[in-house]
Parts: sequence; structure tokens; C-alpha cells
Amino acid sequence: MLRLGVHVSIAGGVAQAVERALHLGCTTFQVFTAASRRWAFDAVPQESAELFRLERARSGITPVIAHAPYLLNLASPDERVRQMSIRALDAEFRRCQQLGIELLVLHPGSCPPQERTTGIAHLCTALARMLAEYGSSPRLCLELTAGQGNALGSSLEELETMLGCLPDGDVGVCVDTCHALAAGYRLDLPEGYERFWEEFQRRFGWERLGVLHLNDSRYPAGSRRDRHEHIGLGYCGLECFRRILQEPRLRSIPMILETPKGEDEREDRINLSVLRRLARGEMLSEQELQQLWSQDGTL
Ligand SMILES: [Zn+2]
Ligand SMILES: [Zn+2]
Repeated sequence: MLRLGVHVSIAGGVAQAVERALHLGCTTFQVFTAASRRWAFDAVPQESAELFRLERARSGITPVIAHAPYLLNLASPDERVRQMSIRALDAEFRRCQQLGIELLVLHPGSCPPQERTTGIAHLCTALARMLAEYGSSPRLCLELTAGQGNALGSSLEELETMLGCLPDGDVGVCVDTCHALAAGYRLDLPEGYERFWEEFQRRFGWERLGVLHLNDSRYPAGSRRDRHEHIGLGYCGLECFRRILQEPRLRSIPMILETPKGEDEREDRINLSVLRRLARGEMLSEQELQQLWSQDGTL
């Protein structure tokens, strides 16, 4: 079965996320376990965590993925920021354990180009601590980034370096299609797509692929800009997603949409239906895609 879902809001309590995912027909979903744009060190209120576990068990949805807050920077040259980040990541692991969340996606962080080696060393020291404490529950997945600003982790090679510095554990990789394209991997071209997965397989093996973020890219290949676009409407293009959804080796990997959202579920519904149609092998054309988006509230 295809594990396909979206990043859902936890507004109104984390258990609400399950309801939202079910409503969209998701078979997996992703959440922030706390506010994503400020420091969060608190646990989930016990009642709220229990309710989440209950609702999630009832839904049958598995796995559930958490995305670590954006502020965390374990590679920062600033000692204070690193300490805060370690505390915040520790809290994130705890919240995931409270909630029974299986996978935790983390951006490797950022630091000035001349300090990359030190930055990666700081990151690995911090992660080794977490792995010693929490093992693989949740399983940590480092995300391939677009390389915007001084972001680390915008190449498979650099992610391999990071994984190589960690104690032999079960750390995975999260591949985001928008980030990969923006970082210069030509997922929009058949050869580029093949080359990317060949390299992935050579460096990591399939068992390291923990999560796929399916996002199109608002900016062209190599732009190093991290701006997500609706499926098929950006520079990755419909064919890129068709290849992914028709790829037997990727079938068992949880796939999460982080595409732009409006006031209601309309955008998520359209993007999900496009992906489901591609998965069923339907010959959805660019023109039909445009039509889906131009018709108002039809889905
Ligand atoms: Zn992502
Ligand atoms: Zn992104």
C-alpha cells in the first residue's frame, strides 16, 4: 500500500492532526510536535499525548513523522545556539516518544562555508548524544537541503560524511524532491533522475531512505532556493513525480507533501489526487493538471 500523506497542522491540539489526516484520506502524515518557529522545550501535556495515541491507533495510520523545528542549528559556530538546539532536539525526541512517533526529520543546520568541517563535527557530536539516549525511537532522518544560505546537507556526499561520523546506528535520510532539484540534482530529466537514485543507492543503500518529501520547486534546478510548489506546477514537473510513484523501490517509503496551503484543504486535496492518479498509472497530462487547478473547489 502506498504511504502517502501531508504535513498537517496541530492547531487545537496534536490529536487534531490525526483527524485532519484521516479527512484527507492520508495513509501517513507529518507534524511539528510543537511550535515550529520558536524554541520549544516542553513536553506534550499528558492528556493530549494519550488522546493522540488513541486516535492514531484507531486510525491505523502508520508511520507518523515529526519534523524538527526550523530554529535548531546543531552546526552553529555559536556555542549558545548549539546548546539551545541540543536542548530543543532532546525535547523533540521526548515528545516523539510520548506520542509514539516513528520517524523524526531534521535539517542538518547551517554554518559559514569556511567552518563546515567544524560545523559537521558539532552536529555529529550532538546527534551521537541523542542516539545514545534514544536509539532509533524515533528513527532520526537527516534531510537533503536546497543549500539555501549556508545550509549544510545539500549534497548526498555531505550527508554521507555526516552519517559516516555517527556511531553505527539506524540513522536515515529524508529526500525532498524540491530541495534535490534546487541543490542541482536534475530530477526533472530522466537521466538526472536515474543518476540521483544510483548515487543514493551507492552511498547509502535503499534501507537508509526513511522519508520522501514530495514537493515541486518554484525555482529552477541549481537555484539553491527552498520554495515549494504544487505538484507538477514547478520545475520538477509532473514526469518527475510519475517516475517516483511508478518506482517499485520507492513504493514502501512514506511520502509526505509539504506543498503550499490555503485557508481550506483544497490545495492538499488536489495535490494528493494528482499523486494518487500518477500512482495508479493514469496518463494525467499537463493540460488536465491546469484544469484541476483552474476549476474552483471541484475536488
Ligand atoms: Zn522537506
Ligand atoms: Zn523545503
